[in-house]
Amino acid sequence: MIKFDNVSKIYGDKHAVDHVSMNIKEGEFFVLIGPSGCGKTTTLKMINRLIPLSTGYIYFKDRPISSYKLDEMRWDIGYVLQQIALFPHMTIRDNIAQVPLMKRWSQADIDSQVDRLLNMTGLPAEQYRHRYPAELSGGQQQRVGVVRALAADPPVILMDEPFSALDPISREKLQDDLLKLQSEIKKTIIFVTHDIAEAFKLGDRICLMNEGRIEQIGTPEEFMKNPKNDFVKSFIGNMAGRIYYAENFATPLPFDPQFQVMPADTRMEEIYDLLQTHERINIESGDKYIGAITRSTVFTQLSKGGQPS
Ligand code: ADP
Ligand code: MG
Repeated sequence: MIKFDNVSKIYGDKHAVDHVSMNIKEGEFFVLIGPSGCGKTTTLKMINRLIPLSTGYIYFKDRPISSYKLDEMRWDIGYVLQQIALFPHMTIRDNIAQVPLMKRWSQADIDSQVDRLLNMTGLPAEQYRHRYPAELSGGQQQRVGVVRALAADPPVILMDEPFSALDPISREKLQDDLLKLQSEIKKTIIFVTHDIAEAFKLGDRICLMNEGRIEQIGTPEEFMKNPKNDFVKSFIGNMAGRIYYAENFATPLPFDPQFQVMPADTRMEEIYDLLQTHERINIESGDKYIGAITRSTVFTQLSKGGQPS
């Protein structure tokens, strides 16, 4: 669906994106993740030509993006920004209707689409379509931002840290909605985040970037089972700056003395190393067994958002 072939973006003498090649499949939920400044936003914006490439090619449906008419392509690619960017003087309906209007949809088609999408994302259309953005909470506004990106039924949606400004409860709710929506509408979604828990929860596949380069691409399970190098290990162990310890991940499995014991305050990076060669690690706090960690329990904890202590 979207293919990067040796793509770089150079500012002065700095590679913001450095020889990136990857293939994003149709219908896939693809997450771009990495530390601040690693090139996520630049990568995303090159897809809909908000930023021109320095070298390489990006293909959209097997044609180089440069061969598309710009407007035509932008209509086929919805875009959701981190900051809420609704037009304050337009109703929610009119905010959502802009791209369908440009595409000359009929009034009736626009109205039914607006209502369908609002209802689908938990904002009953009857109640919300005539309101103004300021009459909605931040979480509801961001939800409208997502609906607006979906309005003209684009096959591809780009989302740049769309939930990072929200409180944890709204954020979790929107993640759940988006997963549900994705399973119903089957769009190709490219989602940028710097939060590994969010990446694990949402992504079919994850692309971890560092200094403009790809460190690893794979499913969440592949990241757990085969982190390719120390950077990947430390990124998943040290979830976006928060340090996780074994006690955060110990789950109440029955005690089994054949497995190695580690203390509760062991950093997860070390546990991931052990899980390469050990099936299960028993965790003790003081001398008391508090639970065990396996690759699959780690994965479950991570996809729940594994809260740090
Ligand atoms: P991320 O979204 O992962 O935080 P960005 O893609 O925004 O990272 O930026 C990648 C790198 O490119 C950063 O080092 C940033 O400072 C640099 N950069 C981004 N935009 C510009 C620009 N317009 N001019 C110069 N450098 C830029
Ligand atoms: Mg960014």
